Amino acid sequence: MKAKTDLSQIKQIPIIDVAKRLGIEVRGTKAMCFMGHDKSSPSLSFSVSYNNWRCFGACGKRGDGLNLVMEKEGLDFNAALEWFAINFSVDVMRQFRGQRKQTRSLKSQKAEVAQQVQKQSEFFSDTELYTWFIDKCAVVSNPIGVNYLVSHGISDEAASCFNLRQMSNPAYAFSMLVQQWGEDRVYRCGIAWGSDGKPKSLIWGSYALLFPFYDQGKITYIQARMFEQGPKFLNLRGITKPLFNADRLNSLTAGPTVYLCEGVPDVVSLESKGLIALGVLGATSFRAEWVDQFLKFKVVILGDGDDGGAKFARDISKYFMDRGKPVECMRLPKGKDVSDVLAQNGSVK
Ligand SMILES: [Zn+2]
Repeated sequence: MKAKTDLSQIKQIPIIDVAKRLGIEVRGTKAMCFMGHDKSSPSLSFSVSYNNWRCFGACGKRGDGLNLVMEKEGLDFNAALEWFAINFSVDVMRQFRGQRKQTRSLKSQKAEVAQQVQKQSEFFSDTELYTWFIDKCAVVSNPIGVNYLVSHGISDEAASCFNLRQMSNPAYAFSMLVQQWGEDRVYRCGIAWGSDGKPKSLIWGSYALLFPFYDQGKITYIQARMFEQGPKFLNLRGITKPLFNADRLNSLTAGPTVYLCEGVPDVVSLESKGLIALGVLGATSFRAEWVDQFLKFKVVILGDGDDGGAKFARDISKYFMDRGKPVECMRLPKGKDVSDVLAQNGSVK
């Protein structure tokens, strides 16, 4: 018994009303993009006549009201329908689910919204769960992952040293996680889609190459390289992005050159060649207090050869300039990443 989904009611809700309800600060028909890449000028644009939205900035995302809710809140289709049911009293759920669900009273709806808002802020870095999960995942053996490592100049030793793993079966991994840690923890560690403390599926919907982040020897974060459609790299939901390879500087004495890279694989590539590298997951995730640990080294900021890379180098170097610490900015040739340059020259020079 599959009820026909009637989305006409949702499609009629003005897009700007949807955006405002999501907490996006709309000015006229513009807003700072919810993906967090906007620094000064807003790149998110709303069309009142088409009742849709589009980002003209880095993420390039676009869609209708339903897509906006899914993207902004990280919800799947059903959870997004539920969001409309709660926020706009659209009864599409009843149609969608047949008679299974009674319409809730306004009071219980409001309580649910409040709870949801609270839950959103309750994501936390779950070292114990991440460690358990990474241990359960196999070392990289699938040709997709192996080819990626080879083409990025990542040696077997480096892959093992950085404890790179693969996740091949999202549904199985998800059920194992829930069984071991319970729904609440799986949801709150940022590894799952879902809402209201209820995880629905892993954020990684297909084969993924996993890069664990270590801090003081403990896993505090995981980034995934995806290979099917959608974003190439996936970050955890709601978790502050740490430095990649953060422990590297602990054992070093003053002097050597440290490369600060835009991408995690670049770090592993450089380390494969015996260089010292750390990764930053986007300039906006950099924190001023991180500068301290770099003061006794020569710092080279390595940006990609595109506009984003130039901005990355500029933004990061500001943090160092504020502390009177000179840094060197290097740009990779356009369209090349570290591994291309390493393959050519054997060093980043
Ligand atoms: Zn955007």
